[in-house]
Amino acid sequence: MTAASLSTVNLDSRFAQELGELSVPWRAEDVAEPRLLVLNEPLAAELGLDPGWLRSAEGVRLLVGNLVPEGAAPVAQAYAGHQFGFYAPRLGDGRALLLGELVDPEGSLRDVHLKGSGRTPFARGGDGLAAVGPMLREYVVSEAMHALGIPTTRSLAVVATGRQVLRETPLPGAVLTRVASSHLRVGTFQYARATGDDGLLRRLADHAIHRHHPHAARAENPYLALFDAVVTVQARLVAQWMLVGFVHGVMNTDNTTVSGETIDYGPCAFLDAFDPAAVYSSIDQGGRYAYRNQPVVAEWNLARFAEALLPLVHEDQDRAVQLVQTSLQAFAGRYSAAWTTGLRAKLGLGGSAGTAPGDDDVQPLIDDLFPLLVADRVDHTNFFRCLGAAARGDTGPVRDLFRDPAGFDDWAGRWRALDPDADAMDRVNPVYIPRNHLVEEALEAATEGDLGPLAGLLDAVTEPYAERPGLERYAEPAPQDFGPYQTFCGT
Ligand code: AMP
Ligand code: MG
Repeated sequence: MTAASLSTVNLDSRFAQELGELSVPWRAEDVAEPRLLVLNEPLAAELGLDPGWLRSAEGVRLLVGNLVPEGAAPVAQAYAGHQFGFYAPRLGDGRALLLGELVDPEGSLRDVHLKGSGRTPFARGGDGLAAVGPMLREYVVSEAMHALGIPTTRSLAVVATGRQVLRETPLPGAVLTRVASSHLRVGTFQYARATGDDGLLRRLADHAIHRHHPHAARAENPYLALFDAVVTVQARLVAQWMLVGFVHGVMNTDNTTVSGETIDYGPCAFLDAFDPAAVYSSIDQGGRYAYRNQPVVAEWNLARFAEALLPLVHEDQDRAVQLVQTSLQAFAGRYSAAWTTGLRAKLGLGGSAGTAPGDDDVQPLIDDLFPLLVADRVDHTNFFRCLGAAARGDTGPVRDLFRDPAGFDDWAGRWRALDPDADAMDRVNPVYIPRNHLVEEALEAATEGDLGPLAGLLDAVTEPYAERPGLERYAEPAPQDFGPYQTFCGT
């Protein structure tokens, strides 16, 4: 059934009920003049919500949390986290709220969550608000990630509040309505562990197992199995980021999910010129979260998760440490396997079992490719897509990406000898990603009131593999005068 009125929206409050110690009942700030900027109709339908109704005055008030269905119990969630390596014992939803969980037509729980909905008891010095630009950035980039097949929180809507938010300059305010399979973070476990209440920690772990990794409940050691499952999903997730050239920018443990979904799109960006050291965040002075560091950081974050889980893994702490260490050691292998499989597919050499070229042929090819891309600062996305054309015999476009094509020609000869599958390449190598200059252009226009560029960009990046006439500019790298790109944490 599609919910087309407030009384037919069923928002559960399982997190709030099962984990009261991690929940502060709270209400969103009143929005005097809500104006819907963008609504994700396919996602609404997936959630069993009627898009027409969501656009109505009542629907928009639900989207900003000013109307909540009977029985719902919105809460601000508590969590801790390591930020840039330093532990912060109390972060939590400073400007966000969990409205509740929807049961989607498949029977899965989906968190409906607000960002920019006003100060909460976790706000510390913050104003509890969010500006239109950063909320639209999260909307565009998360929906692009979803279209690329990468696990992520989703964006249901952005509603302008009509209220000014003071950053470096006054900016129009907004609320993002976010949907996630949950908002359980490594930092949630760190917070629970720090309370010293093992019963709470166990309830949190059971909640996470039930929602995300139900097979762990049947394992001999369910909490070790939970840890192991999170190692797997995070290894796969970060491999997928690396394969599309995504730089998250703020991989703190509070931005690391237990579900394996990408969360919190702040100072994130996609690579253009291939550069392993790429950093886009203005606050990441040391390059901790640079492109090439992401797998190592994910592993570091998982070590913090392991520490939080220790009392559940074994009553003898030394034994618990041994067990989680063994499990964590699997991260590197799982990451490499996911990355290599993905890269083979990008090179058109995935094949089906038995028909694919052997590792002895493919591995040297992979090893020799990246120095070429780095040396000529080749556009990451366009390289793989144009390589697909080269698999069909049209080598011009990909050669043109190199200043010195001789090295590439030699590499390409070896690659072509392995008989790459061009059609398979086009299914995994996007034409359109949310390029930094296009995102900036769309956000700037939207902030000025023109939603046209945002709509155009969304159209391109939510169908990233289908090359379409008229969308050429969305596939082009930034113009020379765009300059080095930085995103600011003034979110
Ligand atoms: P983030 O960097 O967005 O992951 O946020 C880190 C922490 O800062 C979280 O606890 C947020 O709730 C909090 N925070 C960020 N911006 C604000 C704000 N404007 N007002 C209140 N809290 C905020
Ligand atoms: Mg965060």
